[in-house]
Amino acid sequence: MTTDCLFCKIVAKNIPSTIIYEDEHVFAFEDIAPQAPVHVLVIPKKHIASLDLVKEEDRETMGVVMERTAHIARMLKVNEKGYRTIINTNGDGGQVVYHIHVHILGGKPIGAMVSR
Ligand code: AMP
Ligand code: ZN
Repeated sequence: MTTDCLFCKIVAKNIPSTIIYEDEHVFAFEDIAPQAPVHVLVIPKKHIASLDLVKEEDRETMGVVMERTAHIARMLKVNEKGYRTIINTNGDGGQVVYHIHVHILGGKPIGAMVSR
């Protein structure tokens, strides 16, 4: 746990969130400012700041995050109609919180490009 990281604090439940899914490696919760009817963030419990900092040792963790993202999308029943996954990376990518997270957006057509 990185003490000054917002999402580490959410994982530790020091900051409340609406939890959608949790296991040993992965945590998923509702985005506080939803951009779609379904807007969930899926994160590894391990603090990795961004996709830019994913290393060889993180292969298994990131594999689990992606597999659980698909599982959560099915849980939320957005899989058949479809959904968008986004990982914003660094400044130009629009990253605001530096604990890697996969956005799941669904429940309506998300459109051709993302403007968030
Ligand atoms: P990004 O721009 O990819 O770094 O996205 C960060 C996301 O975290 C944004 O969509 C925010 O709405 C969301 N967010 C920020 N603070 C919280 C919080 N306390 N609980 C849930 N989501 C949050
Ligand atoms: Zn963190």
